[in-house]
Amino acid sequence: MQRFFLNQAIEDPQRIVIRDKDAVRKITKVLRKQIGDTIFIFDLANEEFEVQITQMTGKEIVCRLVNRVEIDRELPIEINLYQALLKKDKLEWICQKATEIGVKSITPIISENCVVKELNSNKAKRYQKIIEEATSQSGGKIPPVFNKVKSFEDVILDLKQNELNIIAHEDERHNTLCNILNEKQAKKINVFVGPEGGFSPEEINLALRNSLVSVSLGKRILRAETAAIVSCGIIGNFYY
Ligand code: SAM
Repeated sequence: MQRFFLNQAIEDPQRIVIRDKDAVRKITKVLRKQIGDTIFIFDLANEEFEVQITQMTGKEIVCRLVNRVEIDRELPIEINLYQALLKKDKLEWICQKATEIGVKSITPIISENCVVKELNSNKAKRYQKIIEEATSQSGGKIPPVFNKVKSFEDVILDLKQNELNIIAHEDERHNTLCNILNEKQAKKINVFVGPEGGFSPEEINLALRNSLVSVSLGKRILRAETAAIVSCGIIGNFYY
């Protein structure tokens, strides 16, 4: 069931106008929808609707409301992913996959071993678009927030002690993510994943001194982007 994000509130249920270029192209050219066909949309108020197409031009599609669809696909807990900046387009991939899993926010962080030390605004805008598309595709209603870049240290020092704060660490030999989730109940889980070169020993010590729990995701060394998705996926499924 293809769903489309309507980037405005629905004023008139008898005349819902879709103007987003990608959505119009997908509906007309890819899905070849016709007048009379139905599609599913969701709006800024996180409401989901079944609508029927009443008019179509190359630039816009006009629909009328058929019914409101009540399906809650959001996670019952909040996962906030703090991901060290990575080379190439790995962060774009993480944004898409983490959104499909249902994370609440993605915060790019700069840690000591980051090769990439900044994120340009065009990339941030592109990630926002990827997030909206992935929310639509996966049936989510609330697109995750993509935050501005922060430093590892600032974020660590700002964490709330009543949340479960996890740092994925490949040298952790005692805690696994699963046993920590079994031991500690939480409504908000903040997950930290390092860059290609990993967190430095000083960063790990700072994290442990500030009540983060170091967890292993398994005996193998995962790429950062794999670790981000594995950790969020395990948490998401644990709280299904
Ligand atoms: N030290 C690693 C190495 O030797 O290649 C580099 C870090 S790894 C490529 C990138 C990040 O993924 C790490 O900082 C950590 O957050 C996470 N990670 C990778 N494998 C992991 C594992 N088995 N358990 C927990 N975290 C892991």
